Amino acid sequence: MIRNLFIFLVAVATGAGCSTNAITGRSQMKLLPESELQQMAVSEYQTFLSSNKVVTTSNNRDAEMVNRVGQRIINAVNAFYKQNNLTADLNGYKWETKLVQSNEANAWCMPGGKIVVYTGLLPITQNEAALANVMGHEVSHALFGHTNERMSQTVAAQYGTNILDAFMANKTSSGMRQLFGTAVGLGSQVGILAFSRKQELEADHYGMIWAAMAGYNPQEAIGLWQRMQAQAQGNRPPEFLSTHPGPERRIEQLQKFMPEAMKYYKPIGK
Ligand SMILES: [Zn+2]
Repeated sequence: MIRNLFIFLVAVATGAGCSTNAITGRSQMKLLPESELQQMAVSEYQTFLSSNKVVTTSNNRDAEMVNRVGQRIINAVNAFYKQNNLTADLNGYKWETKLVQSNEANAWCMPGGKIVVYTGLLPITQNEAALANVMGHEVSHALFGHTNERMSQTVAAQYGTNILDAFMANKTSSGMRQLFGTAVGLGSQVGILAFSRKQELEADHYGMIWAAMAGYNPQEAIGLWQRMQAQAQGNRPPEFLSTHPGPERRIEQLQKFMPEAMKYYKPIGK
């Protein structure tokens, strides 16, 4: 509580950083320049891809599927932002989607649209529509500046009113790079810095809408999160299975969002 108050005062003192998201309507404290985070993403994405095995699309059905779903989600997001006169919010986005060989059941999207799906996620998604719902979820974290929010809190707590100076001076340091990776959901470090409950629900909610617009059934989200939960027992949970929201609450919320998502659903080829 005291820490939250401190962060709030810092935000007020610096006179900037609070903004209301045009889509979710939620007021957020984003103290770091999004363009800087997007630049960090370009370099961190490259580093990640060069130190992991990327599954190439030539002759690999899974990689083709991840690519196809990614492209359809991106098209849906572009269409939605265009329809709502928000195209400027996607400035700086240079979307990329890669499948990476790893037993970890994980996926993430960095600021600026750099997406990775781990092969270990595919036995849980089981079908293309469920994969679309996860990828929609991850893309939403990027679109709504959740990485920025998470990093802002940590940097504000560490550096007080000099947040921006401290960030600019330290953005290539190992500490800041690690914070970035954690804030993206890279690795299974949910215990350290989890997405908040509000962020998770926003990601679920709009993830279903992007999936629906992309031609994938949003109802697949239900079974997907149930399989995720079952698989998580005893394993290190990925970011989307942080303690927020708890499993029952999550399904309840997904059901609540479903009628809205179904309005956007137009099956592929119909
Ligand atoms: Zn999430």
